[in-house]
Amino acid sequence: MSVIVYAEATEGTFKNSALEVVSYGKKVADQTGLPLVVLTINAKDPSELAGYGANKILCVDHGDLKSFNAPIFAEVLRQAATKENAGIVVLDSSANGLYMAPISAVLLNAGYASNVVALPSSTHPFVVKRKAFSSKAFNHTEIKTETKLISLSKNAFGIFKTPDNNASIETFNPEIGSSQIKSEGQQKVSGKVTIADAEVVVSGGRGLKGPENWKLIEELAEVLDGATACSKPVSDMGWRPHSEHVGQTGKPVASNLYIAIGISGAIQHLAGVNASKTKVVINTDAEAPFFKAADYGVVGDAFEVVPELIEKLRAFKAKNA
Ligand code: FAD
Repeated sequence: MSVIVYAEATEGTFKNSALEVVSYGKKVADQTGLPLVVLTINAKDPSELAGYGANKILCVDHGDLKSFNAPIFAEVLRQAATKENAGIVVLDSSANGLYMAPISAVLLNAGYASNVVALPSSTHPFVVKRKAFSSKAFNHTEIKTETKLISLSKNAFGIFKTPDNNASIETFNPEIGSSQIKSEGQQKVSGKVTIADAEVVVSGGRGLKGPENWKLIEELAEVLDGATACSKPVSDMGWRPHSEHVGQTGKPVASNLYIAIGISGAIQHLAGVNASKTKVVINTDAEAPFFKAADYGVVGDAFEVVPELIEKLRAFKAKNA
């Protein structure tokens, strides 16, 4: 038996969410006394995963898997999990991970728990803690099937290095049936980073006064290589597209850094962004509720603070380039 983790390589490299899910898998492996196997597809440097506790790294290098295709990637995971006799399968909560997880669960005949935020509280029976009701509650779920599949919530666990760990690296050649759907490639709509996978999200609210001022949000996002987002009223008023609306009724955000500018911090907004690791708030009103949820706050006018921040960040980047 083993624990198997799927570590997604985005354009060949591992994002923090992949390193986090391997760190988590390592602790689950320690807890259960099983080896940790990590599956990765078309990664440039799979050996990097050894530093996070993998005992074995299964590397798939396949031209037909250059573009993400949920049913095919799930089938590759099924084959790897079967080969390694995996009892526990762990994925991250990236957009692709969330597409793959339920399909993989069906293929593996596994019970599936999403939004997991902690190590199993018990392994016999197998019980995990999950977020529920837009993160306002927790749920303890027992998975009773022989194979268990879980999706780890972003930023729920952290990244832990395992220095001096040795891992065997193995090439894995899955059988990819010719009858399956084949993705011929993918084209990005624009060069912009998407909210779902962004490490940094810069978000604007009604305090920005109008769509003409969004240059501030876009410039800050650009300098931080992040995505832009907004509060619900902003998209309702048509200042920004609905695809940027974040919160309980919009997209969830679990970035490493979330910068909220001119956003009051209503409970419905916070419900969708609370999973972000570090929250920075810029608001003129020191009593704005968002400050209670923030890690760092600036009480000030966005039209003064943000240009200065952009200037300082540009200077910092130029100096450290
Ligand atoms: P406001 O509440 O108007 O806040 C603007 C903020 O900007 C204020 O705090 C003000 O002090 C500050 N400000 C003003 N001028 C400046 C300046 N020059 N510089 C810096 N700060 C300034 N909202 C969401 O965002 N996402 C959701 O998913 C969502 N779902 C909802 C679901 C339901 C069922 C309901 C009832 C509401 C939902 N809402 C949602 C709306 C939510 O309740 C709030 O009304 C909304 O989040 C407020 O948006 P805001 O913070 O941009 O605007």
